[in-house]
Amino acid sequence: MSEWQGFVRWAKPDEPWRMRHPVVDGYRVAIVDELQRENSGWIVDDQNRKCRWTVGPGHVICKRPAVVALYRGKTGAWGYCEQHPYGRQWTGVSLLSSALLPVGGPGE
Ligand SMILES: [Zn+2]
Repeated sequence: MSEWQGFVRWAKPDEPWRMRHPVVDGYRVAIVDELQRENSGWIVDDQNRKCRWTVGPGHVICKRPAVVALYRGKTGAWGYCEQHPYGRQWTGVSLLSSALLPVGGPGE
């Protein structure tokens, strides 16, 4: 896949995304849409799943309506609500995350 799939924009210096990666020479932190990235495993929930995020002891799960789902191997896709997509941001149409992308590519 192209590493530019799902590119939205470069992250701003004060965005929290920036803290999630050590930035190496020649790369910058970009905001990407996981739903547009091939093999990200993330899809829009289309089966009225419930959020599987563990919210307490004893494996208690969130159970709010899922907005997205993540393929988790043999167990299929697990749903997650807008509050619990592992630190990603659900915008209503996109699932934003961060990625290191090379300076000088299509985003420049
Ligand atoms: Zn949840």
